Amino acid sequence: MRSYCLIAPAKINLYLQILGNRPDGFHELVMVLQSIDLADVVTLRSRSTDDIRVACDDPNVPADPTNLAYRAADLMVRQFPDYHARFGGIDIDLQKRIPVGAGLAGGSTDAAAVLVGINLMWHLGLTQGELQDFAAMLGSDIPFCISGGTALATCRGEKLDPLPDLTDLHVVLAKYRDLPISTPWAYKTYRQNFGDTYPTTPAAWDACKQKAGGMLSAIAHHDTQQIVSHLHNDLERVVLPEYPKVQQLRDEFQTLEILGTMMSGSGSTVFALVESLAQAEQVKAQMRRALPDPDLDFWVTKFCQSGVRLASR
Ligand code: ATP
Repeated sequence: MRSYCLIAPAKINLYLQILGNRPDGFHELVMVLQSIDLADVVTLRSRSTDDIRVACDDPNVPADPTNLAYRAADLMVRQFPDYHARFGGIDIDLQKRIPVGAGLAGGSTDAAAVLVGINLMWHLGLTQGELQDFAAMLGSDIPFCISGGTALATCRGEKLDPLPDLTDLHVVLAKYRDLPISTPWAYKTYRQNFGDTYPTTPAAWDACKQKAGGMLSAIAHHDTQQIVSHLHNDLERVVLPEYPKVQQLRDEFQTLEILGTMMSGSGSTVFALVESLAQAEQVKAQMRRALPDPDLDFWVTKFCQSGVRLASR
């Protein structure tokens, strides 16, 4: 039986601004999301039985119905019962390369890969937009993971406007191994600490959105200096004081010759942007020397222009 092997890239947030409370309980956001080459590998196969099974090489990831990849398959099974009856259940094999609880959308991109893979495996013929509508039912970052590249994400993060592809910037990621940060915790704490300062009307939100204009204009002009000077993440205001090790990564990167540094999403990954692979390797080596902790992991990667895609055979 044919297997479908998909590359599921991670993302970093070049910009994350929290505007205020939405009636559905989520936050209204303005984000600029960027795909990177660091990716999980997701392999799908049909099963002779009608169940869904997840296997994962990372023991920290639940291989059960709470796994986002399982939930994506379950959604497709419920949406397309005739195809499920015809093709049978689904085997999902996850090779995790993206660290967990890292603010890199690791679970979201696996779910995106499952949606894309089932569309191919069952010959559903869904468009990217239709797949993204299903993705939005599962999680705010999942629609972006399907299309990838560089995008403006608004509303809960699920409304996407593609932005011009950025030049090939290189990225050094740093993360303490046993330091996952819960995304719901970060947003809840932000609301507790700053909720009384949120603007309360859509008109006031629109005024706040102007702040993102500098980043969008910098991207439109491919102006790297301006892009790095507009890196922004509101969640740093709650995560850095609570997690000194994340603050330390941020501070240490700042001492080096890099273009810019920022925490990604809700952390705990901190990234640094540099212009070349050689500079990225040098920054990684300098960080290792400055912080010789065996529990501190680094990845050297770069911007990529695609979301989930089939692995070349
Ligand atoms: P985001 O950047 O979208 O907020 P994250 O990168 O911070 O997400 P994930 O790596 O997606 O966080 O993991 C968050 C939680 O989701 C973890 O507690 C993990 O156990 C659970 N999880 C469920 N499915 C997966 C999956 N396929 N891969 C990784 N984690 C998963």
